Amino acid sequence: MKWLGGLVEKKGINLFTQFAGRELLYEKNGIAGVLTEDKGLDKNGKPKDNFTPGYELRAKVTVLAEGPRGSLTKDLVNKLKLDGLNPQAYGIGIKELWEAQPGRINTGYVAHTLGWPLTSDLYGGGWIYGMRHNRVSLGMVVALEYANPLFDPHEAFQKFKTHPFVRKILEGGKLVRYGAKTVPYGGWYSMPRTYVDGGLIVGDSASLLNSQRLKGIHTAIKSGMLAAETIYEALCAGDTSAAKLSAYQQKIEQSWLKKELYSVRNFHQAFHSGLWKGLVHAGFQFVSGGRGLIDPMRSEAGYKEYRKLNRERVLVDQSSRFKGDGKLTFDRLTDVYHSGTRHDEDQPCHLIVLEPNICGDRCVREFGNPCQYFCPAAVYEMVSDKGEPKLKINAANCVHCKTCDIADPYQIIQWVPPEGGGGPNYEGM
Ligand code: SF4
Repeated sequence: MKWLGGLVEKKGINLFTQFAGRELLYEKNGIAGVLTEDKGLDKNGKPKDNFTPGYELRAKVTVLAEGPRGSLTKDLVNKLKLDGLNPQAYGIGIKELWEAQPGRINTGYVAHTLGWPLTSDLYGGGWIYGMRHNRVSLGMVVALEYANPLFDPHEAFQKFKTHPFVRKILEGGKLVRYGAKTVPYGGWYSMPRTYVDGGLIVGDSASLLNSQRLKGIHTAIKSGMLAAETIYEALCAGDTSAAKLSAYQQKIEQSWLKKELYSVRNFHQAFHSGLWKGLVHAGFQFVSGGRGLIDPMRSEAGYKEYRKLNRERVLVDQSSRFKGDGKLTFDRLTDVYHSGTRHDEDQPCHLIVLEPNICGDRCVREFGNPCQYFCPAAVYEMVSDKGEPKLKINAANCVHCKTCDIADPYQIIQWVPPEGGGGPNYEGM
């Protein structure tokens, strides 16, 4: 983004960073712009000395490019019922950047893995990339439709590094950076309608990620270019209605975007019933150009399908959680430190729990509070409040991965943007 930002600024385009879009401005059946967040509110929502109210940014066309599970896109898709054939499915990607000892990995080395330490009922795998100056990028992506509510993706990634092959690369090296982010796995059949009156959706927000290759930057850039062409034509014609902007969808269909994404349109859905069946399905798709045994392969909501535990109300002993050895493997707080995450702590909590009573009672019994496990930044913690389980939110740790907004079984966690400028520092990632 920095690189592209520099290029477009040279062309005379103004970029206003550090403003989060808080709400869409709706007009009839479409959108008229964005309301940015209020800045300078304290943790109780009261104005501080530096208070600045949000701006109403009105535009003839607004482009939503929020990445996976964008807050404004989610609202728009729900409100105008823009959902595609399948609901969106997501994976969580957890990543570390290491400085390895010289000679451990060649620049340009690429390895993708499937399975271990994940069991065959989980869909996911790892990557190891050799970068310049002995840097190693490695991580793991796991589909969020796993059944065990106590599964901990961060811990699985830490175990991945203990495989002798990975250990040999990292031994003697040092952790430099950490990050986590969700990816939209649903593909072509999960694409929402991408155009409305006065608005377009691009990139991951429009489900344009290649779910087989787990790559979405090239497709996001292409969709941005097609959106720009469409907007230019619409502005010249003085018509920014959904009918006119539907040219964007046609451009997607006529470009290499469709060719690439359509050939893997059933890929993720094939793994919905586990690794082995998935490999058979994916094999068929390979020879049939993406068709597989069934086309389209339907999938239900690809998350919150946890197995119920139905247990007593017990508090997790936090000291029993994975700690790592501090050299090769780490606990979540050490990793958060390496994400460079910074938030002003005196601001309203950006993780809104709509029905907090569920957390200390029903969720403890039914699912054992999965937020404590799926969050890769130790934001959610169940603590004892006079002997009663109570949710504590360490919002300042949040690395903005959006997993909680997706994977909470009751769908009562709402991720809203914190004050602009706060968040992880992913420079060099
Ligand atoms: Fe990710 Fe939510 Fe945890 Fe933030 S609070 S790191 S968005 S799971």
